[in-house]
Amino acid sequence: MCIFCKIVKGEIPANKVYENDEFLAFNDINPKAPIHILIIPKKHIESFQNATPELMSKITPFIKEIVKKFELDKRGYRLITNVGEEGGQEVMHLHFHLLGGTKLLWPKLTTDESKKYI
Ligand code: 5GP
Ligand code: ZN
Repeated sequence: MCIFCKIVKGEIPANKVYENDEFLAFNDINPKAPIHILIIPKKHIESFQNATPELMSKITPFIKEIVKKFELDKRGYRLITNVGEEGGQEVMHLHFHLLGGTKLLWPKLTTDESKKYI
């Protein structure tokens, strides 16, 4: 069973911030911003690649409720989902990173010096 499924089952502790029948939000163990919340479906889904339009239509208002709860709607925030090896996904259970609480940087995301994408 994956680490986030263990958190859903209560087998590993997590600092929960919000949940309903289908989704759970908890603080990232290694926060990269003052607010760094992970939002997951309780059901194991590997990544955004496996997310259906139905799931997205339900998780979107759930995410926005958390945004509002932390008053990030006025301040701004970043929502990230890493997918697969090159996307940097470490936990293979779909999760959205909600980051905020300060002015976020937009750093260089690769050491690839190729100019082909400019
Ligand atoms: P990824 O790199 O897969 O997009 O992000 C995985 C995130 O999960 C990382 O930010 C990491 O800090 C977080 N994480 C990994 N294991 C645990 C854990 O056991 N508890 C919590 N709360 N976060 C975790
Ligand atoms: Zn899982």
